[in-house]
Amino acid sequence: MHGSRLSALLVMLGLVGSAHAGPVVVLEGARLIDGTGKPARDNAALVIDGDKITAVGTAGKLARPKGARVVDVHGRTIMPGLISAHSHVGLVTGTANRADAYTREAVQNAALQYEQYGVTSVVTLGLNRDLVYEVRDQQRKGAVPGAQIFTAGRGIGVLNGTPPQPVAPDQVYHPATADDARAAVREMAGHHVDIVKLWVDDNLGKFTKMPPEIYRAVIDECHKHKLRVAAHVFYRADAKALVAAGVDVLAHSVRDLPVDDELIRAVKSRGVFYIPTLSVDESFFIFAEQPEVMNDEFFKHAVPPELITMFLSKEYKDKVAANPAVPKEKAAFAVALRNVKALHDAGVQVAFGTDSGALPERIPGWGEHHELELMVRAGLSPMDAIVAATQKSAALIKAGDRGTLEPGKRADFVVLAADPIADIRNTRQIVSIWHGGREIAPRVPAAPAK
Ligand SMILES: [Zn+2]
Repeated sequence: MHGSRLSALLVMLGLVGSAHAGPVVVLEGARLIDGTGKPARDNAALVIDGDKITAVGTAGKLARPKGARVVDVHGRTIMPGLISAHSHVGLVTGTANRADAYTREAVQNAALQYEQYGVTSVVTLGLNRDLVYEVRDQQRKGAVPGAQIFTAGRGIGVLNGTPPQPVAPDQVYHPATADDARAAVREMAGHHVDIVKLWVDDNLGKFTKMPPEIYRAVIDECHKHKLRVAAHVFYRADAKALVAAGVDVLAHSVRDLPVDDELIRAVKSRGVFYIPTLSVDESFFIFAEQPEVMNDEFFKHAVPPELITMFLSKEYKDKVAANPAVPKEKAAFAVALRNVKALHDAGVQVAFGTDSGALPERIPGWGEHHELELMVRAGLSPMDAIVAATQKSAALIKAGDRGTLEPGKRADFVVLAADPIADIRNTRQIVSIWHGGREIAPRVPAAPAK
């Protein structure tokens, strides 16, 4: 069904909207991971009124409000909805990036897909057309369903350089001067952008980098407007220069060299967030080399069938095998895994993102669950990976109303059939999704139990 007609229908049926007048709901008996990093509590009770959590306690001890609907979730685990702080929408159609892909329908469908995978908030980190602001603002009024969009608007790329995706001219700025860069920031600030994105990178030597006077102007102008700046990075030297210039978020891993004491100290002392996006480097080869990851319905529901056909083709495998960038990406992936562990152990604020939606290989919804698995492979505990994907990512976007399951916070959570602390892959065992206090039946089959 056409996205906007679907939204209109859902509004008519009263299925969308934060001001719904349903009864108070109490979920009783689940193990609760609240997103704060505190150990999970067993036999929890969670009281939901409207779109908010009003009480958290122990089932049998916490009084049920009068008239409450009681939902028995014994044997289940509840965790906060995932928040991807680095994703994209409207850049891919089928098996390819397309400059005409960014439509209102594509944005709304992407939001619905993320929500189906338990991603209840998503930051569309650049390459957006201005229609994104309208979708976001209508969502905040409860008129458009799906994962709640936070957006970096167009973002600021390099003149004759990155980002490399084919996009329409109204999807990214390429400022020639510091003044142009400041004007771009002011224009986005006028749209109440949630965060600003910039690219400094040369894309493994293919382009020229952003001159320092441009990114310094962007960061300075953003801070005048109380906006945070997230930078696409690859190289350690760029990360150091950006952090010294005041950047607030490193939106990818440092992947050329190990992080050193100088960078760790700078990132920590300035409170910079680090989004590892480990999926990015791996996406260049995983589908050719480990096709078994595509075997289950949990994956298949996230992609058009023609994309799986492409990934399984001999032509695709040969292309990956012959791509001279792949060995570099493999090396970068290994460095990225070590760097996130080192930064996390040093006490840096590690948040969560995937770059899903940027390219056909970056799978929205599935990719977020895969990223959690990669963070654990890097050496973070399952609890730490979950905290990054909930509390820390909420803090990154200054969304104090979400990210943890505590009284006063939004009722954004997933009910799982198995405990992700025991095995992080259990985040894929989705029984139901609750978004703004409303239960959403999953159309995506849970991944098979191990
Ligand atoms: Zn990105």
